[in-house]
Amino acid sequence: MKAVVYNGPRDVSVNDVPDAKIERPTDVLVRITATNICGSDLHMYEGRTDFETGRTFGHENMGEVIEVGDGVDKVKVGERVVLPFNISCGFCKNCERGFTNYCLTTQPDPAAAGAAYGFAAMGPWAGGQAEMLRVPYGDHNCLRLGEDAQEKENDYVMLSDIFPTGYHATEMAGVVPGDSVVIYGAGPVGLMAALSATIKGAAKVMVVDRHPDRLRLAEQIGAIAVDDSTTDPVQFVLDQTMGLGADRGCECVGYQAHDPQGTEDPVMTLNRLVQSVRFTGGIGVVGVFLPQDPGGPDEMAQQGKVAFDYGLHWFKGQTMGNGQAPVKKYNRQLRDLIAAGKASPSFIVSHNLSLDQAPDAYQNFDERNDGWTKVILKPQQAGSAGR
Ligand SMILES: [Zn+2]
Ligand SMILES: [Zn+2]
Repeated sequence: MKAVVYNGPRDVSVNDVPDAKIERPTDVLVRITATNICGSDLHMYEGRTDFETGRTFGHENMGEVIEVGDGVDKVKVGERVVLPFNISCGFCKNCERGFTNYCLTTQPDPAAAGAAYGFAAMGPWAGGQAEMLRVPYGDHNCLRLGEDAQEKENDYVMLSDIFPTGYHATEMAGVVPGDSVVIYGAGPVGLMAALSATIKGAAKVMVVDRHPDRLRLAEQIGAIAVDDSTTDPVQFVLDQTMGLGADRGCECVGYQAHDPQGTEDPVMTLNRLVQSVRFTGGIGVVGVFLPQDPGGPDEMAQQGKVAFDYGLHWFKGQTMGNGQAPVKKYNRQLRDLIAAGKASPSFIVSHNLSLDQAPDAYQNFDERNDGWTKVILKPQQAGSAGR
């Protein structure tokens, strides 16, 4: 089968690799129909992780079930399913408590927790930017879709990661109806956090970024766009909230945060959040931070450490939640919002491309070229269909 293979920093190609197949009775085999390129893929693409060469990316996957193992009871051949990027077992200590983002069974390193398809340090699992994908513990990991699965494919595929991840940021921040919310980062996850805050009835949603295409999308769903290349976002939020600060804040940037000139400062958005969220406010951090970053800008950053403004955070009595989203906690309800026509996360999609176009898509998305807000690869789509 064809798959997107990582050859080294900023170098991917579409190669022939051995077919994905059923390896255990609990596996489900999926023919991939839609698989997104994610901002997390870019950390790996840029060589800023220990992702191994020769492996395949792709943790935002959806497709059609083409084979099931003998131990699969629920999922049937022919069904359309979307897969949480977290690969989880359902029976370990963390999964039992709903923390499928920290599964202890699917992560082989006993010092770690949590697994994902095609992801650095998240287990050996192959990614879905390929024609087929092996889904372990298929009954547990497949979310089945209804008859509108194909018609709303670009919406449903967002249930694999970014829609639940954006929602999780608002959950950890504690967004309730009437809140003011500031979101740092208007990449796909930040825009999903803005959509989630709106769904939850936030009174005011402010989204900070500097890319005009992303800011336009934030405005499209009724958020206030804040361009931090021309405006001090902390002062803007204070001005919008009678000097108090926003009730809730979401971090949707991660450790490669940088100023408009490109100088990296991994703690920049965290400290801006502490400054622009009110006393007793809540902060949800879903941007990726790592225990080590050998390519980081200074020695501290290389050790995964940052000069966090903890004194002010403590002084303001803020709460903060961190980490990857447990997709299964939200994907059913969010699916049903899509089915009911009450959420359409596909508004961020700029490109539907064939698998062969992946190398070009990675380059454009990595360079944050205007108009490349979210790419969906469609491995069943032949040739070079455009947008
Ligand atoms: Zn992702
Ligand atoms: Zn588990």
